[in-house]
Amino acid sequence: MPELIGIARLAAESPSLLGKKRVEYMSLTTRSYLTRCNNPRMPFRWMINPYRGCEFGCKYCYARYTHEFMELRDADAFEKKIFVKSFGPRRFLGELRKLPVGESIAIGTATDPYQPAEALYGVTRAMWEQFARTAGFRIGLVTKSNLVTRDAGVIASASRRHAVTIVVTITTLARDLAGALEPLAPRPELRLRAIRTLARAGIRVSVNLAPVLPLINDSEASLDAVAKAAAEAGAVSLGANVVYLKDCAKSIFFPFLEAQFPALAGRYQERFRNNAFLRGAYPEMIRERVGRIRRKYGLDSSREAAEPELWPRDPQLTLFS
Ligand code: SF4
Repeated sequence: MPELIGIARLAAESPSLLGKKRVEYMSLTTRSYLTRCNNPRMPFRWMINPYRGCEFGCKYCYARYTHEFMELRDADAFEKKIFVKSFGPRRFLGELRKLPVGESIAIGTATDPYQPAEALYGVTRAMWEQFARTAGFRIGLVTKSNLVTRDAGVIASASRRHAVTIVVTITTLARDLAGALEPLAPRPELRLRAIRTLARAGIRVSVNLAPVLPLINDSEASLDAVAKAAAEAGAVSLGANVVYLKDCAKSIFFPFLEAQFPALAGRYQERFRNNAFLRGAYPEMIRERVGRIRRKYGLDSSREAAEPELWPRDPQLTLFS
């Protein structure tokens, strides 16, 4: 077996924290909490993932490839071996202080920061506590979990010093469909309740209708129902993306389709055989449909909130605690 290096070696040396029936939690040493995003199409410059892997195990999840970097290549390792990044508040604060004002940071680009591990280890909450000691960033956090409401107080504090948006993903209001697609994620009505709680706490909330899955959750009625319920709960913006399927996602999603949606399996396989993305008329139709629904409910498309009053103007004054 070749010698492991980098993150694969760190993962192999990670001590186990807890073994549950289905999932094992491991402690992972990390060199830096902030990772620079070099993809110019992404609307943020920095990424933070407090965990590696995600217990929610969504069938379409594109982030499974991140376990391959650790030489964990079983298709379901991503949802069964969860790495908890060992957190040092001073070190995290030190990294934040090196960033200039106005930088954009996305939390949860390859994991759900409020998955069940967060209830035990609290890494995401510990990060918010440090954000509340700094100022001037654009911060977006994406989650499917109502556990985020536990931190409404500290997120509201951070929102007074940064432009914060909490993005709650809801792919469908149909409970059975959500349960099939996102087996261990909280039910859609709990996510809606989370939107309401956060909005009432004065936090800007966006609803994320992603992924849009052809012939599964893409009807006007289905998308409209999510947008309507989210707007009524207090979301101010709506994002949506058509599904994309990397090979790591196909290895879970295609067998799932064959079992649950056999009539669609062949069409998906044909369309995604050589591409991770769908191109052409379909994404254009969804863009138009979502735009119409956004206008209907007065939802914004932007991911950024207005600049907070406390935003430091002096370029010499980077961050303060
Ligand atoms: S919640 Fe997000 S990161 Fe977790 S399994 Fe689902 S899609 Fe993947």
